[in-house]
Amino acid sequence: MRYHILTLFPEMVSQGLHESIIGRAIEKGVISLEVINIRDHADNDYGKVDDYPYGGGAGMVMQAEPIYRAYRAVADRLERAPRVLHMTPQGQVFTQQMAQEFAREEDLVFLCGHYEGIDERVLEEIVTDHVSIGDYVLTGGELPAMVMVDAISRMVPGVLSNQESAMFDSFQDGLLEYPQYSRPREWHGREVPEILLSGHHANVEQWRREQSLLRTRERRPDLLEKEG
Ligand code: SAM
Repeated sequence: MRYHILTLFPEMVSQGLHESIIGRAIEKGVISLEVINIRDHADNDYGKVDDYPYGGGAGMVMQAEPIYRAYRAVADRLERAPRVLHMTPQGQVFTQQMAQEFAREEDLVFLCGHYEGIDERVLEEIVTDHVSIGDYVLTGGELPAMVMVDAISRMVPGVLSNQESAMFDSFQDGLLEYPQYSRPREWHGREVPEILLSGHHANVEQWRREQSLLRTRERRPDLLEKEG
């Protein structure tokens, strides 16, 4: 998987993604990260990439041409039109299923907006998917892109040391995950459930399944309704 992030704040993305599990996956070469500063593709000497909105109103709009040039630099190098995910509160809300689907791509371009957003014409020209991380408005698309890169990367073989563990994560099978415990056996008077100490694999599995269902019913009944 090769990620190409188009942004006005390259350091924010770079620093955030070079840590922990995703950082190690980049070091190992399982995934790669190219962060492209849209400002480097400005069509003026000052690196200005935004302007006032036609029709008036508050804020600034990111102009089409610098974004198009930044995109073309990637597409020309790849010699094809890659999938381009536009980070926007107006998009389809990102889910685990979408993470799985995106993980099958060889290349993904993330387009991060800022200010009032991006000139619609370049969106029409290059964007394949409009994606949101939830029904609230952030100042920029960098955090959403980082969230998605993280979730997608977990689905790329070789990123997690134990790929099997991802299969039981919340949402993967339409349910929330069962509760987890580690040492010590007793903490603040609270005991680890006896069954987890039994060493009886089938009983542990059955208990976990029941706990997943209970927890989903309690915290996210909408997920069970979706399953039907
Ligand atoms: N004026 C835009 C609107 O009402 O739809 C919001 C612009 S927002 C202040 C600036 C940028 O943050 C957007 O272009 C987008 O890239 C990003 N952004 C904000 N909220 C987001 C969300 N929930 N999911 C994905 N991206 C988001």
